[in-house]
Amino acid sequence: MARLAIATHNAHKVGEIWDILAPLVPGLTRGDVASAGELGAPSPVEDGASFAENALIKARALAASSGLPAIADDSGIAVDIMGGAPGIFSALWSGRHGADRENLELLLAQMADIPAPLRTARFVCAAVVVTPAGDEHVVIGEMLGSLATEPAGAGGFGYDPIFVAGGETVTNAELSPERKNQISHRGKAFRDLAPHVAEVLRS
Ligand code: IMP
Repeated sequence: MARLAIATHNAHKVGEIWDILAPLVPGLTRGDVASAGELGAPSPVEDGASFAENALIKARALAASSGLPAIADDSGIAVDIMGGAPGIFSALWSGRHGADRENLELLLAQMADIPAPLRTARFVCAAVVVTPAGDEHVVIGEMLGSLATEPAGAGGFGYDPIFVAGGETVTNAELSPERKNQISHRGKAFRDLAPHVAEVLRS
């Protein structure tokens, strides 16, 4: 029987979140965790105005429908000179949800005339845990860096081929998955969320 629900239908994300949480939540087994997909839960409309609000919308809906504590995240890329855009619109920046290549090409085109010192950007991830009784914890993780001028690398997803994290010399798409998890917004957020998840599962 599952004890913790994860608000995603994406198997890759379940694996990533599991890898981060497992060593930090005492006694948690893979069988304790079920995704929204496995639970047959519908995806709610994400109409919040921030990463945190959208993560809470997903976790609240899943906690209500499953009766289990639910975790969720919402993430994206925020470019400083664009006032934080694409932000919560990262996944559909080019108009079609999840069109990763079109999204990053549009962003590169919009930034074409902007010189290196002004190409600073960050990935942001809000991670939350919500119980059916209404207890909620929100944490935010960030990865600072800057936009490259052309895509490089075949790993990762989304905007990874055009993002160079601070202190790195290659794009996120050229980092190993382990290295990316160490420094990523999602890695940081879920490592910070882990004690709250452990607490919720204890009570
Ligand atoms: P979601 O939180 O999974 O809905 O992600 C929102 C969008 O933000 C994705 O479609 C990607 O375009 C972008 N994004 C979020 N995290 C990352 C990342 O780690 N690398 C590259 N793109 C990301």
